[in-house]
Amino acid sequence: MRKILIVANWKMNLNASQASLLVHRLHERIPARRNIEVVLAPSMLVLQPMSMQIDRRKFRLASQNAYFVDQGAFTGEVSFTMLRDLVHYGIVGHSERRHIFDEDLDMIRDKVAAAVRNEITPILCVGETKHERGEGETKQVLHDQLMSGLSNLTANEVRDIVIAYEPVWAIGSDHIAKPAQIEDVVSYIRNYVNDVYGPKAAKGLRVLYGGSVMPEVIHGYLSIPGIDGFLVGHDSLNYHDFASIVASAHSWQREKGEEE
Ligand code: PEP
Repeated sequence: MRKILIVANWKMNLNASQASLLVHRLHERIPARRNIEVVLAPSMLVLQPMSMQIDRRKFRLASQNAYFVDQGAFTGEVSFTMLRDLVHYGIVGHSERRHIFDEDLDMIRDKVAAAVRNEITPILCVGETKHERGEGETKQVLHDQLMSGLSNLTANEVRDIVIAYEPVWAIGSDHIAKPAQIEDVVSYIRNYVNDVYGPKAAKGLRVLYGGSVMPEVIHGYLSIPGIDGFLVGHDSLNYHDFASIVASAHSWQREKGEEE
């Protein structure tokens, strides 16, 4: 039975009291469900207090970023080692990190490895820009991001990680990806992992979709073969919308008879 993973990426929003209020509202609206895992990725500042506030039957935590060296003279950085007992997941290689902060393929590869080394499950974000899609380069971009991002992992480690397909043109935009476009890339990702790391890794790996995900698209997107859930930006900041996304995933499971 397929467990759905839904990750809320709050980005650089919400101070400690605003985050606490949002968590409070989410607790009221989102019940604990065996087949849906909900993960919150607040700012680094808020992770510690939030770890004491959350009901762990309902929510897990993720970091939005971390540094790839475990400790040392790296002013302003926080390492995966420091996050080790605080978060289950770490988002790595988000397009905003790649494009605004110039994180290159090597740095993202090292961050994925650092997360795994510290027993944090990386959520490796991959995806092409509008220009790259227009030039017919989508598969090449995905190939390079996957090859490099996974290159320091064993097949067993790849099996346990999460990959989020986030086309850059669909993030925070009015461009809603068509299910056929998502399906094409998700099957490319699983085929790549199958070819390089084998069928166990390809089957075990979880693949999320992210890019302007809202309650209305959940049923359609969950019907895409190979999709295990969502990485949600904008709509995760509104408790009504985010709770609706989780409720929609649950109603989809009920329709398909995939409920607990
Ligand atoms: C994201 O940035 O990971 C994201 C999916 O954002 P949005 O849902 O706002 O497009």
